[in-house]
Amino acid sequence: MQITFLGTGTSHGVPRIACTCDVCTSHDPRNKRFRSSLLIRDDSESVVIDTGPEFRLQALRAHITHLHAVFYTHNHADHMNGIDDLRVFSEVSPLDVYGPSQVLEDIRQRFPYAVGEHSWRGNIPQLRLHEVPPSGVAIGSMRFVAVPLVHGCRQVFGYRIGDFAYLTDCKHIPPESLALLDGLEVLVLDALRYKEHPTHMCIDEAIAAAEQIGAGHTYLTHLTHRVDHAELEQYLPPTMSPAHDNLTISIPTRAEGAPK
Ligand SMILES: [Zn+2]
Ligand SMILES: [Zn+2]
Ligand SMILES: [Zn+2]
Repeated sequence: MQITFLGTGTSHGVPRIACTCDVCTSHDPRNKRFRSSLLIRDDSESVVIDTGPEFRLQALRAHITHLHAVFYTHNHADHMNGIDDLRVFSEVSPLDVYGPSQVLEDIRQRFPYAVGEHSWRGNIPQLRLHEVPPSGVAIGSMRFVAVPLVHGCRQVFGYRIGDFAYLTDCKHIPPESLALLDGLEVLVLDALRYKEHPTHMCIDEAIAAAEQIGAGHTYLTHLTHRVDHAELEQYLPPTMSPAHDNLTISIPTRAEGAPK
């Protein structure tokens, strides 16, 4: 299984419009961050988690030619507003979309044309909406299990796929969700900035949560323009790194139930 970070930025993206700070004007490509999104592939299937406003640019940059499903974490604009560009991936048949019920309801209300029966294939997306059952959703060799997280006043989803977990946008991981995160090889975790924030983990909170979860390696994502990649790299313990756009990681796929 291979993951590619399509975006690692917070809701403004980095650079932030009209900002002249050191990070926004940096020449380090790792300081250029599209809105947070992830591509996950095995030998035959490709799945994205979230489609933010840059989804078209991200799909072109990562050479995505087909998609088998989309998983949403929550209904904030920086995670959903690229949804119309899914039409390319639903020309032949409807595209399966999974997420918390709040996301499914939001899609029905904001994008009703994408979920109805229609004959304009290709001009508008055709999405088939599904809840995520507790046992998860199998796609190819991968099983996507929802990990409920607290993001401000709302409950959002992270996802565990084999020995990998993607937990963007969260302030708190409830104990019952921590129990779903045992034995991870790779963890991706929200870490907005150094200063505390009411709805996102700050970097020190993310380090503490990562240490508690104890994955082999942890990558921090959803970073603001207050975070310089090289500086954060120095700040983090050896088992943690900042994620950056385009970073691709291979994660060994273990047969379900097989010993580690
Ligand atoms: Zn976000
Ligand atoms: Zn800036
Ligand atoms: Zn959010």
